Amino acid sequence: MGFLFPEEPGKPREITTEDGVRRREIGCGEGGFLGSPDGGKTSLEVAYLYKAMQQGLEICDQQEVLAIRKETKAGETRYCVNVENHHTGQFESHYAKHVIVAAGTVNTLHLLLHSRDGEKGLGGMPQLGKNFGSNGDYFAYWDWQDRFHDMSQSLPINGYVRLKGKANQPFIIEAPLPCPDKLRLPSWIAKKLRQGTFIAGMGKDAMDGTVSLKKGKLNVDYKPENSSIFDEIRGQMDHIAEKTGKGILSIKRPTTAHPLGGACIGRNTDEVVVDGKGEVFDHPGLYVADAAALPKPVEGPPSMTVAAWANHVGEQLIMKLGRENADSFGQPFLLQELSEKQLVERDERG
Ligand SMILES: Cc1cc2nc3c(=O)[nH]c(=O)nc-3n(C[C@H](O)[C@H](O)[C@H](O)COP(=O)(O)OP(=O)(O)OC[C@H]3O[C@@H](n4cnc5c(N)ncnc54)[C@H](O)[C@@H]3O)c2cc1C
Repeated sequence: MGFLFPEEPGKPREITTEDGVRRREIGCGEGGFLGSPDGGKTSLEVAYLYKAMQQGLEICDQQEVLAIRKETKAGETRYCVNVENHHTGQFESHYAKHVIVAAGTVNTLHLLLHSRDGEKGLGGMPQLGKNFGSNGDYFAYWDWQDRFHDMSQSLPINGYVRLKGKANQPFIIEAPLPCPDKLRLPSWIAKKLRQGTFIAGMGKDAMDGTVSLKKGKLNVDYKPENSSIFDEIRGQMDHIAEKTGKGILSIKRPTTAHPLGGACIGRNTDEVVVDGKGEVFDHPGLYVADAAALPKPVEGPPSMTVAAWANHVGEQLIMKLGRENADSFGQPFLLQELSEKQLVERDERG
């Protein structure tokens, strides 16, 4: 997660980074797993957006994309992105030859399914919505019943939980629950948040779910019973509960914070949706740069993998534009300079 640890342990301060971003060093009970209002966690905004803004990225906040259409004029195809501007309440259209969709798996699938179907729809993408998975996520409450410590006063993640001497265990982590001081909660819930923690397993699910539109609404058909990982995680949690003498409570039906797939990477349009550069097979210039493209479960927290994929899609598009520019103007595009600079930055980041 890249926590910004306090220089002086236990005494978090507000700092301004070299890039000019104001952040507060992480303290116990702050920046829990539901967001990071003070910037103690290195969020993607901090890691990516600020630098990209310095290089010319313009962010249009509060603009909700409703549909993507395609139109051909004078032999040239371009996309029309229909947007509702929540600042003005107006509906707007933006036009581009290249459109990258990265609305988060479920929103991306919703947007693409909606944009594909119907009279003016994009069409194509026969495998859209197939091979949808949950990353094998399984969440539970670890009932420590600790009356002497406030378990919510901790870092956002406590770490891995493993039983000694057991090989090939599913990936299990423990985290504090959201700090009740920051939320208005009934006292019995606040007590439970303080006296216990959150425990989660992740792993290889069958990724055999299907996402579709039914009467305009998103419908997810996913059968956890097809994936043995849930029994493995539940079994592991039972062992942990037994060894610690502290109950682990969960609802039987798994919940996911890490939906993946549905617009997967692969070889052709009969099998998947996008190619190895993230470009939709039947719609050149349309890209999927988020976890909807991942064809296999990450089996752990996925945001670094999603960021790496998005980075790759971006680099491939820059290279393609560089080649096109070189072709039309007979001279190399800025690409080489940009790539070298990016490579140096990447090396420096390790
Ligand atoms: C509670 C929780 C805790 C998590 N903790 C971790 C963790 O500890 N480690 C980890 O690796 N991963 C974690 N994840 C998963 C991680 O957040 C995701 O994997 C990651 O954010 C996915 O990135 P993304 O760019 O695909 O989508 P998102 O981060 O969801 O970004 C999509 C963006 O698109 C916008 N958007 C959606 N629809 C539209 C639309 N129609 N028009 C315009 N904009 C739109 C959304 O507002 C959002 O800003 C967690 C997830 C949750 C829910």
